Amino acid sequence: MKTGENKNLCPMCGGRKVEGKTVYSVDLGNSLVVVRNVVAQICEQCGEEWISDQNAKELEHIVEEARREKRQVEIMTM
Ligand SMILES: [Zn+2]
Repeated sequence: MKTGENKNLCPMCGGRKVEGKTVYSVDLGNSLVVVRNVVAQICEQCGEEWISDQNAKELEHIVEEARREKRQVEIMTM
């Protein structure tokens, strides 16, 4: 734990985080990127989601590629 905070508890509501899958989507204006099956820590109580640094980097890469290639809709599975 680098930050010292309790990573198993939700900072928003204090609920428990459990590992699950989520859908990440971002609207770039002229293109829409949807990535399914993204592993995330999800709060049982309020549904807030956290994506690991590694996954976040991967998503950033996917978004950057979609932006560069000007695809209107990009739907993929991680
Ligand atoms: Zn919560």
